[in-house]
Amino acid sequence: MADAELHAALARAQTRLDTLDFYPEPVHVDRVRIHVAPWFFRIPGFRRYRGYAFWRTILLKGPNPSDDLVTHELCHVWQGQHRALHMSWKQLTTRYRSNPYELEARRAVEATRAAQAP
Ligand SMILES: [Zn+2]
Repeated sequence: MADAELHAALARAQTRLDTLDFYPEPVHVDRVRIHVAPWFFRIPGFRRYRGYAFWRTILLKGPNPSDDLVTHELCHVWQGQHRALHMSWKQLTTRYRSNPYELEARRAVEATRAAQAP
């Protein structure tokens, strides 16, 4: 998948998140980088993921990510722009499945999926 297509996917994800009011400021994407990096997902501990968000970088396991996946990962970037410390704390102290930021990212995808239907 070309960079341009990944950035188009990022823009669509931003449009979806912009309809939500989880945080006072909309997500800023100008400095967000998105890459396909299958090697990253061979690292033990990361094998179960299809995407992973760092503060300003989204890594994807494979090309042609679904819009839902990109929206999910961009939601983590958005969370980091507002709640970086609390997020890190929760990552260390909560299980993945019950992590409130994980649940919120899933909610963001669910809540905006209908708006994507043609
Ligand atoms: Zn997640």
